[in-house]
Amino acid sequence: MPETTYTVELIPPDIEPYRAGNTGIDYVTTFAAAAPGPHVVVAALTHGNEICGAIVLDSLFRAGIRPRQGKLTLAFNNVAAFQDFDPRMPIASRYVDEDFNRLWSLETLDGPRKSAELTRARKIRRIVDEADYLLDLHSMQHATAPLMLAGLLAKSRDLALRVGIPELIMCDAGHAAGPRMRDYGGFGDANSPKTALLIECGQHWERRAAGVANDVTLRFLIALGVVTRDDVAALAGPDFDAHPNQRVIQVTEAVTISGDRFDFIAPYRGLEIIPKKGTVIAHEDEREIRTPYDECILIMPSRRLLRGQTAVRLGRFVA
Ligand SMILES: [Zn+2]
Repeated sequence: MPETTYTVELIPPDIEPYRAGNTGIDYVTTFAAAAPGPHVVVAALTHGNEICGAIVLDSLFRAGIRPRQGKLTLAFNNVAAFQDFDPRMPIASRYVDEDFNRLWSLETLDGPRKSAELTRARKIRRIVDEADYLLDLHSMQHATAPLMLAGLLAKSRDLALRVGIPELIMCDAGHAAGPRMRDYGGFGDANSPKTALLIECGQHWERRAAGVANDVTLRFLIALGVVTRDDVAALAGPDFDAHPNQRVIQVTEAVTISGDRFDFIAPYRGLEIIPKKGTVIAHEDEREIRTPYDECILIMPSRRLLRGQTAVRLGRFVA
């Protein structure tokens, strides 16, 4: 696939002021209110080149936002990858050794394997264990509408509806390559009240992604009673007061690459709706990959078409 040139509109913030933090974990800061309440975590840089989330955390710090109740933790996750960010080669700094967001099983976290990301995940795990609510801020390779990833459980979908933006909520099981932070422990357990959301804000380096990240974060904090509307009104962006008719996409399957060569038949960007069941969308070695039903939605087709990785997810509107 030819190398794509990206326009990098966003400027990575200086996060050095947040290195020390106050939790004993670098770049992780917890603010506690006198009043009891949930522990709410907002995480950025789970992928080191997805800088919109870091911009939002920087903005919350600068504005002096504090929780009205409970605890608010602001966490910069894969800082080592972020520190390698180079706007001339922005795709290079997603991670150092491996994807931080495929490590979140007890087997992997407690296992013997070592990597830069595992070292970091093992440190941050204490905060994730303590969290009642998590919002993980991400962005995408292609410029499509933002997507709230709510996992498979009703509790997360309900919270996504309470947050109210963006328009599209995607319910999915994640990746064969390993569980995400948002699926870890109680977040993925229907019997636990712990609830997590992951927002894909837009294309990694488009200005709009930072606006979406900002407004989703503010609405998430308001929905959970961490702050009031008045507390954060000065930070509001264009989607702060938006009330889209939210729609839910149920992901039915992830196409995971098992062959040597995988090619989409067209330069899909994501959210294309393929009208007819059985339409060929890709070739993997000699095999054709076909849509399993009518009105099939292609979700986040990847440019990293490597064995074991998710090439694309397939879904349909259920609400
Ligand atoms: Zn990401």
